[in-house]
Amino acid sequence: MRLFDTYTKSLVEVPPPPGPVRMYFCGPTVYARAHIGNARPFVLGMWLRSWLRARGYEVTLVHNITDVNDKIYDAAPDASAELARRATEWYLADTSALGLGMPDAMPKVTDHVPEIVRFIGELVDSGHAYPVEGDVYFRVASFPEYGRLSGQRPDQVEEQEPNALKEDPRDFALWKTNKEGEDTAWDSPWGRGRPGWHIECSVLAEELLGPSFEIHGGGLDLVFPHHENELAQSRSLGHPFAHIWAHNGMLRFTGEKMSKSVGNIARLKDVLERWGRETVLLYFMTGHWSKPIDFSDEVMEQAQARVEGFREAFRGDSHPGGDWDSFAAALEDDFNTPDALAVMHGWRDHDLLGRALDVFGLASVAETKDAPAEVVELAERRRQARADRDFDEADRLRAEIEAAGWEARDVADGFQLVPK
Ligand SMILES: [Zn+2]
Repeated sequence: MRLFDTYTKSLVEVPPPPGPVRMYFCGPTVYARAHIGNARPFVLGMWLRSWLRARGYEVTLVHNITDVNDKIYDAAPDASAELARRATEWYLADTSALGLGMPDAMPKVTDHVPEIVRFIGELVDSGHAYPVEGDVYFRVASFPEYGRLSGQRPDQVEEQEPNALKEDPRDFALWKTNKEGEDTAWDSPWGRGRPGWHIECSVLAEELLGPSFEIHGGGLDLVFPHHENELAQSRSLGHPFAHIWAHNGMLRFTGEKMSKSVGNIARLKDVLERWGRETVLLYFMTGHWSKPIDFSDEVMEQAQARVEGFREAFRGDSHPGGDWDSFAAALEDDFNTPDALAVMHGWRDHDLLGRALDVFGLASVAETKDAPAEVVELAERRRQARADRDFDEADRLRAEIEAAGWEARDVADGFQLVPK
């Protein structure tokens, strides 16, 4: 099994089974409902875990929750902790609705502040960081490798977090002194304040996975400064940190409707309600994880049609035969889901197809039974409630349908019922 690594710009071999494969995927800053783009690293992490476990690996996946941050302070002055708590619940609800299970650990930053303070203390003691009036900054000049991950020359790194008191414009904050309007703070040797953003991932990854682990994931937008800084913090203390940096490509919003109102249309919750989890997962399979992927009504319709194509295959007779090795080879070679999908499309072997779909959380596609009459009636009442714009009633009926083990999808000519 090999994966593309941003650090070496090459395909890097994952150690042979049983591993272990320890993975850390950067999680959300919790201040608003997650966007469909936030789902891509989550889905990739869960799929990799699923595939590696099927291959006999011991896998641990850690996905952090950033619950203290400027964005949260800005979004909820004087009530940041409450917003973070609510937005964490939204994130857990929206990601669990993908039906992939959950990561092995989802640590919150605010539960690990003493460990973060200790780590910063080690950086200060070893000369890699320095305090300035209640802030603590990482001394970039003390780490000659800086810039390597993001491909910048160490002497030409972009400035981050401007502050005239810093030794060097490249230096970044590890600890930030408490400011007006920030309603959460913790004690530290440098005064009351809170962690900077980057330090949390060095600390949480090492606390939960150890100083050396196999795969670090996250969106391509995190390479600089976030991951460059994580790497500097950990490696300057002599910790090997991540062996493979797996950065997923970003979503591109195409189509007129999308580019006009990305905010509302593309919330993960709404996308899941509109298209259903199976279509969303199949959509992500159509793009290679490290490349950008377009998001529009058209591509979602195509994904929906492909799900239907698979469902149709299960309605027909099973024809044994199909090349599992080609499917596995596509995934082993940089987890190429579009290639794996192409292999699966030729299959009419129900067992094989069911096994392959299960890797991606799509085993439900094999269930072709019809919904019982009472569920159809609930869905009919929900359709009517939506037509009357009574969305509270529609949501209540959706919950009732889900409690009965079904999912109601809105399609052009009414609704579709799919087993959950
Ligand atoms: Zn991170």
